Amino acid sequence: MVTRQRKDKNEPANFLRVLTYHRVANIDPASPLSPQLISATVAGFARQMAFVSQHYNVVSMEQVLAAVTEGKRLPRKAVIITFDDGYYDLKTNAFPVLRHFNLPATIFVPTAYPGNPEMAFWWDRLYEAVMFGKRQEYSGPAGNFQLTDADTRFSAVRQLQNYVKTFSHETAMNFINEISDEMGIKRTKRKTVMDWDELRKMAKNNITLAAHTQTHPLLNRISLDDVRKEAVGSREDLRREIGEVLPVFSYPNGNHNDDIVKVLGEENFQLGFTCLDGHSNLNTIDPLRLCRTDITRKTSPLLFRLRLMRLFTYIDKWRHR
Ligand SMILES: [Zn+2]
Repeated sequence: MVTRQRKDKNEPANFLRVLTYHRVANIDPASPLSPQLISATVAGFARQMAFVSQHYNVVSMEQVLAAVTEGKRLPRKAVIITFDDGYYDLKTNAFPVLRHFNLPATIFVPTAYPGNPEMAFWWDRLYEAVMFGKRQEYSGPAGNFQLTDADTRFSAVRQLQNYVKTFSHETAMNFINEISDEMGIKRTKRKTVMDWDELRKMAKNNITLAAHTQTHPLLNRISLDDVRKEAVGSREDLRREIGEVLPVFSYPNGNHNDDIVKVLGEENFQLGFTCLDGHSNLNTIDPLRLCRTDITRKTSPLLFRLRLMRLFTYIDKWRHR
């Protein structure tokens, strides 16, 4: 007699789904932070965590590392929850939900920021300058933009972001300073990310902190020497502030190439998280090029469930061909 196997029993061993979040927050039009990095509303995040805790096995970064370096086996239907950038709203909005469901998670920290938690990321500074700047128009090397209402301003934000991403890191930061000045934005002190005390508290409560460079440059826009400094420096900062750190790294904006991956390997990083879409079979994938599933506000409850399914990866890859 032929017995029908349940689909998930066919899942290969060490098959991992990585969820990527940035911010968890409700939309606030008055906020100077870009809403583009809000991955889920507070209620949406709670629904997603309820779903994964019921239907999947949420694993810790230690478990993923042990699967890669010691050949240990992950449970079936393994999911790991990751957050990039260490935004302050993780403390108020995501952490209580993770505690409620007793779920481990990892935060990738750009380590130049927690010591200066009022130092804003360039994309948030650009957003603030263009959305809240005094001027009704902006002209510069990127083009001429009418800034008459929220829609035209937001469209300018998007175009300028793409423009900034083509620069070297240094040029990009100079451009952000210039546009902030031109638009009359004063540098106000405001807490964007968690400080070290807050991160230390997280680390004691089931949250792994891992390297995400120091200053969050796009790694393909800086020299390989600087890639090395940023990666190693980030790990050293975490070791100094937290006490221990796993050899794990997330590429800012996902940007990586063969040379960058090689540097990470030379510096003994064991796991590297990209923004390549999909799931990862740890037995076959290069562990320095792990895929992730980016959660955004457009991720409906149905799409969230589908994107966690193993077979959906193939459909999704085909869709993006
Ligand atoms: Zn990041």
